[in-house]
Amino acid sequence: MQVLAPRATDLGGLEVRRLLPQRPRRMVGAWCFLDLFGPARFSEGRPMDVAPHPHCGLQTVTWLLQGEAVHKDSLDSEAVARPGALNLMTSGSGIAHSEETPVRNSGRLHGVQLWVALPDAHRNDPPAFDHHAERPLVEIGPAQAMVMLGELAGVSAQARTFTPLLGAELRLPAGVDAEVPLRRDFEHALVPLDLPCDGDGERLTVDHLHYLEPGRDQVVLRGGSGTSRVLLLGGAPFDEPILMWWNFVARTREEIEAAREDWQEGRRFGQVRRYAGARLDAPEFAGARPVAANPMS
Ligand code: MN
Repeated sequence: MQVLAPRATDLGGLEVRRLLPQRPRRMVGAWCFLDLFGPARFSEGRPMDVAPHPHCGLQTVTWLLQGEAVHKDSLDSEAVARPGALNLMTSGSGIAHSEETPVRNSGRLHGVQLWVALPDAHRNDPPAFDHHAERPLVEIGPAQAMVMLGELAGVSAQARTFTPLLGAELRLPAGVDAEVPLRRDFEHALVPLDLPCDGDGERLTVDHLHYLEPGRDQVVLRGGSGTSRVLLLGGAPFDEPILMWWNFVARTREEIEAAREDWQEGRRFGQVRRYAGARLDAPEFAGARPVAANPMS
């Protein structure tokens, strides 16, 4: 297994731990971005307050383990992400959104923020937002899985996806093996979220990404000292070269510069009318080097 340690990054005052993209591994299937945040406890203030910003060429996935986050976007959507609920935003050609801890909150925050690269055939589709209040559960031997999107062990989560993809949260009881079926044509990643666990007899570290190459039928997982929660991602290797810069996924520098200019000039992405404060400005692009997310493909 290839193992990636997280990199600490500041996101508007909220410390996040970035697992994707990193130089040794940019993507897992179409999953091209993965931040972990929390677990945090707070008694006042709102630790997450990401002002309106644009996206194009991708989907955003917000998945919480504790706490709440309100999504608002330029389609006038407003939806609270909570543990077990999926907020899935499909930017297509362009959308703007904000994500905040609501004023009334549990004083906790723990979750993951993911992006999915859209394939060429759909990256200029109109934007959309989907809130799924519940996700299907599936028993895998002694383990339980919540299927965020895609299909696992014969249970399918209805969600808007454009490439073969899997996202699931597994709960592994301590000391018992669970044989988790995998698709041979997928590459996968395992991220223990609270406690270490074992994968095929190796100890898997919390907040680290453990990459599994395609060609596997299963992985045997076992909880560590208590019930372990693990994020399982999978997907068919994404074979279109992409460029990432700021909040954009594109194919060329010119597209990224055009997206930046459209945001700065108030075009294309719309306005998040439900958000009370100012929107984010794009950083300067001059001299910027967008990240080639999968340069080897
Ligand atoms: Mn965003």
